[in-house]
Amino acid sequence: MLPQEIIRRKRDGSPLTAEEISAFVRGITDNSVSEGQIAAFAMAVFFQGMGMPERVALTMAMRDSGRVLTWQSLGLPGPVIDKHSTGGVGDVVSLMLGPMLAAVGGFVPMISGRGLGHTGGTLDKFDAIPGYRTTIPIETFQRTVKDVGVAIIGQTADLAPADKRFYATRDVTATVESIPLITASILSKKLAAGLDALVMDVKTGSGAFMPTPETSLELARSIAEVGTGAGVSTCALVTDMNQPLAPCAGNAIEVQCAIDYLTGHARPARLHEVTLALCAELMVTARLAAGLEDARARLQDSLDSGRAAEVFSRMVATLGGPADLLARPAQHLAQAPVVRPAPAPRDGFVRTMDTRALGLAVVALGGGRRVASDPVDPAVGLTQFVELGQAVRAGEPLAVVHARDDAAATAAAATVLQAIAVHDAALPAPPLIMETIHAR
Ligand code: URA
Repeated sequence: MLPQEIIRRKRDGSPLTAEEISAFVRGITDNSVSEGQIAAFAMAVFFQGMGMPERVALTMAMRDSGRVLTWQSLGLPGPVIDKHSTGGVGDVVSLMLGPMLAAVGGFVPMISGRGLGHTGGTLDKFDAIPGYRTTIPIETFQRTVKDVGVAIIGQTADLAPADKRFYATRDVTATVESIPLITASILSKKLAAGLDALVMDVKTGSGAFMPTPETSLELARSIAEVGTGAGVSTCALVTDMNQPLAPCAGNAIEVQCAIDYLTGHARPARLHEVTLALCAELMVTARLAAGLEDARARLQDSLDSGRAAEVFSRMVATLGGPADLLARPAQHLAQAPVVRPAPAPRDGFVRTMDTRALGLAVVALGGGRRVASDPVDPAVGLTQFVELGQAVRAGEPLAVVHARDDAAATAAAATVLQAIAVHDAALPAPPLIMETIHAR
């Protein structure tokens, strides 16, 4: 099967067969397909789209381009489950969701990514914990999942390697924004972890990767249908990213936020609701709970009893982090030398937030990367964000900047003032959870 014939058929709008798709993906993996051919294929899919059977075939071929984990031999007494988010600002959910699901009987092998553009990455947050190892042998990873119930680590080269090459070409050929290609890219990596069930959090709003509510919904539907079609029961939620989800953004800062949440010191309402909703939907999808009410009650109990916090603590210690992180976080997490409020310019109500700009302010402080090789400063970021609709008085903080030096703090404070609009009247707050799509 010549790659150029497969590209030609897609270019002309014909649906591809599973054999054609898997031949092309094999070529991506073994380098027999050139970068130009990958680019042409991606552009053909970008314009012609793919039907659901083609998306399932592409996802499975990419999943099978490398190692696919199996769990049967470990004899786990519960389902293997995970969550993926399209990413946002202050999206610290994974740090709590993994331990909470483990505390209610799930097994969570979470392979997470670094920050991308303005969004934070779970892996960068764990790198803020001294000693925690995000790169470990797969055997250690699986053993930790079995013993602790959850392990959160970084992408490994042998899981879905076709996606790495495919994505690198899409990134430089304006073909990232294709729903069939995004679906296959995300799911191939998640499905390589050998899951029984998955919940997808598709963000929408000013800090989201997908530009409109319509495209977010389309991606959520695609992922739920294709994941389930590829053999992993998948549900999806479309959730609001018109403001940061947690009241803070930054790496060590978000680890502290997760610790405060798990230990009960502070459970910000929107963060709590999205975390519970994702966990509960996944528990029902994975048949870990009979219904949402039962799921929510057990999740709340995992928090109130301290079991979820204990699981987090065990995971951190097992993977090399400090055993007393939860008891003494300030001794272990980096803190920025300059801490300064960004004061509101006038009395009024918080009307809109440019959440992407807030994420980029964290990147500019050094908390994210402009290019892949940039180091990340774990200490910097923003805390104490106001919320949409909140009344503020002139001089009260819209957020607090944590910076390496005065110049960086001044620049970040100016960005915060630009990004958070204070007006005489508030707008109605967008719904936190816009849509829930169940596996069929
Ligand atoms: N994230 C991914 O992993 N893949 C995409 O295609 C887009 C976002």
